[in-house]
Order: sequence, then C-alpha cells, then structure tokens
Amino acid sequence: DQLAELITTHLREIPDFPEKGILFRDITPLLADGEAFGQLIDLLAARYRGKVDAIAGLESRGFVLAAPLAIKLGVGMLTIRKGGKLPGPVIGVDYDLEYGSARMEIRPDSVRENDRVLIIDDVLATGGTAKAAIELVERSGASVTAVCVLMELLALKGRDQLSAYEVDAFVSF
Ligand code: 5GP
Repeated sequence: DQLAELITTHLREIPDFPEKGILFRDITPLLADGEAFGQLIDLLAARYRGKVDAIAGLESRGFVLAAPLAIKLGVGMLTIRKGGKLPGPVIGVDYDLEYGSARMEIRPDSVRENDRVLIIDDVLATGGTAKAAIELVERSGASVTAVCVLMELLALKGRDQLSAYEVDAFVSF
C-alpha cells in the first residue's frame, strides 16, 4: 500500500543506537523530503478525516506527525510529554522499560471532554508509551479512536498491551 511504500523507501536503519544491539529505525529522511512528508500527511489525513476530533502526539517524533495532521484535518493537537516537561497542572502515568522506568504526562485541561482522539507516534515497540498515552487521554475525559504508528516492531509485542484498541501500523519489522 502507498503508506507502507512511502515509509520503507524513506527509512534509515541505524545499528547499535541508542544502545549496542538495537537497530534504530530513523524517519529523518522521510521528514527531510518535502514531497514525501507531504504525501505521508495527506495519506494519513485521508484515512482519519471525519473520524477524530483531536490528534495526540507523543514526544518527540509523534509531535512532528501530529501537528501537520491536525492542521490538515482542522482539529486540535494535544501534547503528551515525558515527565517533568509540561507546566502543571498535569497528570502522569509511570511505566516500566526494559531497564528502569519512564513517565508520560498530559495537561487534562488541554483535552475536550468526549473528544475522539487519535494517538500518533513513529514507532510502536513494547507498547508501554502508547498504553500510558491511552490512559492519560481517557483519564482526561476523552476517548481513544485508534493508535497510529508508522512502524511496529513485532518481536516486542506492543499490540498485546493494546488489545482493546485499534492499532494502525503501516510497516512491520
Ligand atoms: P515503547 O514504549 O513502545 O517500547 O517505545 C516506543 C517509543 O520508543 C516511541 O516513542 C518511539 O519513538 C521510540 N522507539 C523505540 N524504538 C524505536 C526505533 O527503532 N526507532 C524510533 N524512531 N523510535 C523508537
């Protein structure tokens, strides 16, 4: 399909980043190609037009996708950020990483009650970040229509954590 083709042809794979043994999938080449980036946003907009009331971007690469998509769809954008970055009042969710833990936060007053929210990020790995984001959106009084990622790392089984939700991933590794 067109989205899968666009993503795979503009991807860079970086071995041993951010740690030895991890193959990092980098979307920088896609963003740097104005025509491809525009096509990506057009294709995403066609898919979600009329179905969502807000786009929630996950820091940091999710922001880069969420902002142009929100404008294209004529809806607002929500920022779900790493712990300690948003000025308060915020609510947060802590979750476990392979080593250590992480935290995501939202300002609940940035969310309109009962809005249908699309959560977007570049990559779904273990699903911990997306799961935390879903909880934050729901605790803020809105509902999650779908989680949209450009790529999914199947071995990490992120989808298993999100089984009650629509997860749209265009490329799987
Ligand atoms: P998870 O919480 O699903 O384990 O990790 C997802 C988060 O880690 C996303 O915000 C994503 O940007 C980042 N991430 C994990 N692996 C990769 C990768 O290979 N490439 C990129 N670009 N991001 C990754």
